[in-house]
Amino acid sequence: MTRRARLGRAGPDARLPSPSRRNPDPVPPVPEPGPVRTCVGCRATGSRQALLRVVLDAGTGDPVLVVDEHRRMPGRGAWLHPDQRCLELAVKRRALGRALRYAGPLGTDTVARAVTRHAAQEVQPQHSTTVPDSTPVPTVDREAGWKPMAPR
Ligand SMILES: [Zn+2]
Repeated sequence: MTRRARLGRAGPDARLPSPSRRNPDPVPPVPEPGPVRTCVGCRATGSRQALLRVVLDAGTGDPVLVVDEHRRMPGRGAWLHPDQRCLELAVKRRALGRALRYAGPLGTDTVARAVTRHAAQEVQPQHSTTVPDSTPVPTVDREAGWKPMAPR
């Protein structure tokens, strides 16, 4: 198993996406397949832009989880979708601590807040999502073929 363990060793801006590299073809901008990260929650992969980077900030005593908003903080990072479910999954299996090589208790408040914030940003209130409250429940047709005491 080869893990891509290159965590920001190559300088902060080593891999800036360069969209226009003498590419005359009007090819739609395909997200670079290269830098893909795995969400520690749902284990699905996503681009760096799609995931939050969570790092351990041990600068002021007890290590705390902080969200690396600019994805350029040094050290180990855990990647997580800005999704509540992914955070829950990550918390449930202690994936954040494991990814960050930290066994102690970790408060996820900061991360939860960031997730909520990002999730709120993602959701653009363009069209009011009207969830049909009265979903047609598939009624089991009991009457059909069920004749009580059918006289012969
Ligand atoms: Zn996820």
